[in-house]
Amino acid sequence: MDTDVAIVGGGVAGLTAATFTARAGLDTLVIDHGESILARNAHLENVPGFPLGINARTFLSLLREQAAENGVEFHEARVTRVSETDDGLRLRAEVSDGETDITTSYALATSWSDSGYLDELADVGLTKRGSKVYVDVDDFGRTGVDGLYAAGRIAEKPHQTVVAAGHGAEVALTLIDDSDVPFYHDWVAPEGYFTGRGREVPPGCEEISDEERREREQASLDRLQEAFAEPQSEPPTMHPSVADDTDDAED
Ligand SMILES: Cc1cc2nc3c(=O)[nH]c(=O)nc-3n(C[C@H](O)[C@H](O)[C@H](O)COP(=O)(O)OP(=O)(O)OC[C@H]3O[C@@H](n4cnc5c(N)ncnc54)[C@H](O)[C@@H]3O)c2cc1C
Repeated sequence: MDTDVAIVGGGVAGLTAATFTARAGLDTLVIDHGESILARNAHLENVPGFPLGINARTFLSLLREQAAENGVEFHEARVTRVSETDDGLRLRAEVSDGETDITTSYALATSWSDSGYLDELADVGLTKRGSKVYVDVDDFGRTGVDGLYAAGRIAEKPHQTVVAAGHGAEVALTLIDDSDVPFYHDWVAPEGYFTGRGREVPPGCEEISDEERREREQASLDRLQEAFAEPQSEPPTMHPSVADDTDDAED
């Protein structure tokens, strides 16, 4: 498998980052194994835009659908190893019936709480606190290895959904900036917003007609009505230690 951007982890940070890199035109593959820790939440009440909160499993499923709508590809597998190559990075991933290799120009670790696949990379700093290991990043999400980034809780960001999503987006923008994609805003503006003032539409921006705006709004209303028509049937996932009576205070 070959891609521009490989994102390890399809949780909050990974799916948000993937939506940004795919919308910027970079081929984006999310490799995910297991489920987001947010699936353990009982009711999500601090994400902007949902006055009475939202079911966390519904939120996760809409995040994943949004990534797919924007062209993100998915690979169900556990990443076990990352190595450097002459022109990028190679990820080894375990699937049910063997292993796959993925070559990529850029990789983004968002795999709370597994960083074991980075152990062989001497230039990646890992910080252990209690039972948790965090990936060291600079202010922009870059690690010590060219082309390798980390975002969300694994980069030791505070443990909230909107923080993980925001960091995923921010680090994706760093990655986009480091790539050949020209300056990138990801804005959708009404027709004439730029051109009506004699300006070019900036890279990564779009001007849409009133008719197109109405069509997109109607499609989003239809989809949201369908998504919120019925209560979510999946209950929260319980912490594994509840069953075996061990203790892990943090999550
Ligand atoms: C009980 C509970 C309640 C919570 N309630 C709230 C709340 O009300 N409000 C709030 O803001 N936040 C809440 N949170 C916190 C929130 O869930 C996290 O901060 C957020 O999910 C972190 O996002 P992330 O993308 O860093 O990690 P995650 O969302 O956990 O995503 C990590 C992904 O990486 C995958 N993965 C891991 N290792 C590998 C590997 N080797 N290969 C491939 N994939 C891998 C995992 O399966 C997972 O899908 C709660 C957390 C818990 C536990």
